[in-house]
Amino acid sequence: MNYYFDEFQQELIQSARRIGRERIKAVAAQYDREGTFPWDIVKVFAEAGFFGISIPEEYGGLGRGVLDLVLVTEELSRYCGGIALAVAATALGTFPIVISANDEQKKRYLPALAEGKMLAGFGLTEPSAGSDAGSIKTRAVRKGDRYILNGNKVFITNGGAAKIYTVIANTDPGKGTRGASAFIVEEGMPGFSYGKEEDKMGIRASCTRELVFEDCEVPVENMIGREGEGFMVAMKTLDKSRPGVAAQALGIAQGALDLALEYARTREQFGQSIIQFQAIQFMLADMATQIEASRALIYAVSRNLDAGEKNVAKESSMCKVMASDTAMKVTTDAVQIFGGYGYMRDYPVEKFMRDAKITQIYEGTNQILRMVIARSLIRQLAKHA
Ligand SMILES: Cc1cc2nc3c(=O)[nH]c(=O)nc-3n(C[C@H](O)[C@H](O)[C@H](O)COP(=O)(O)OP(=O)(O)OC[C@H]3O[C@@H](n4cnc5c(N)ncnc54)[C@H](O)[C@@H]3O)c2cc1C
Repeated sequence: MNYYFDEFQQELIQSARRIGRERIKAVAAQYDREGTFPWDIVKVFAEAGFFGISIPEEYGGLGRGVLDLVLVTEELSRYCGGIALAVAATALGTFPIVISANDEQKKRYLPALAEGKMLAGFGLTEPSAGSDAGSIKTRAVRKGDRYILNGNKVFITNGGAAKIYTVIANTDPGKGTRGASAFIVEEGMPGFSYGKEEDKMGIRASCTRELVFEDCEVPVENMIGREGEGFMVAMKTLDKSRPGVAAQALGIAQGALDLALEYARTREQFGQSIIQFQAIQFMLADMATQIEASRALIYAVSRNLDAGEKNVAKESSMCKVMASDTAMKVTTDAVQIFGGYGYMRDYPVEKFMRDAKITQIYEGTNQILRMVIARSLIRQLAKHA
């Protein structure tokens, strides 16, 4: 389907596709096996300008928006959802600065992020605060010109690879979500260290690590916004970044469909290629239909965000739920089309199924996002009652 992208977007898609084909495709299985971070490919992403896509031009970025980031994430994820995440997770860590930081903070951090000289991460989740993000325990207490942070963040994407992290901590525990504040924490700040590195089912080329704060000293000027605005910063960030997770899911689904089509064309049983069987054709037709529907929704939501639409929690959740459920279904069906070979690590398709699963879990599980969507529907009902 023609989505009528401008020239810049078309070039961006071509560039990401070329990098996917030439640099990622051949090494995706190796990174998956070894679970190492793809620094060599991150360099290629940086040269292509991918890290600067949604950073304003005045801070060294390309001044584009969510849609352009989505297009690149989708293309890269067709080849490896884990490697693509280096771009998407850096955008997640960068959005709070782009959206809510002051000019001085933007000048300090955005140019290096835009160039890909350093990566970023986003630290919200804690051992006892996942879906219930409002119950975070990491504490930030002001002492003179510093905040002293204590606590830990788990499952942080780009953990250990990134140089800066936007971290949500509690400055006023009695106030619940209104007591949270956002900080930019740099690697090397006193009292900041890395903890457990996770060994994951999928997206194994992405590093996922614990951040540990033990009397960690963060300068006052590293607070984003004001005290008590941290949760708002986090929610605005996630509204903007969820189409990126959806795009990762979409790319994974498309990559699995590409493989399934080619396999179905070449695999013969009962004297003909299996693509001749209607059972296989219907599966392929459903896969393609669900992918295209997800794509249309993601692009529409991204365009809305780029046009400055503010109340997008429902739509941003919808595209993530739809694309990630599609990715899980499509990748499972792709394995089915490969038959027994699909179950084997010698073939690339099982990796897509493992990589797809995370997209239903992070940046709000699909159960939580369905609650967000339903609450919005109920609010609309009340308005029109
Ligand atoms: C690979 C990976 C990378 C990640 N990257 C980051 C990152 O960069 N930054 C970050 O801050 N976090 C990150 N996360 C954390 C991720 O966002 C959380 O894992 C996710 O929000 C779910 O939290 P939880 O794991 O504690 O599950 P829980 O909240 O304990 O949920 C367990 C189950 O209960 C369900 N559930 C919980 N509450 C409800 C409810 N009210 N109604 C119905 N069902 C409910 C959930 O949907 C889920 O099925 C990452 C996680 C993973 C696995």
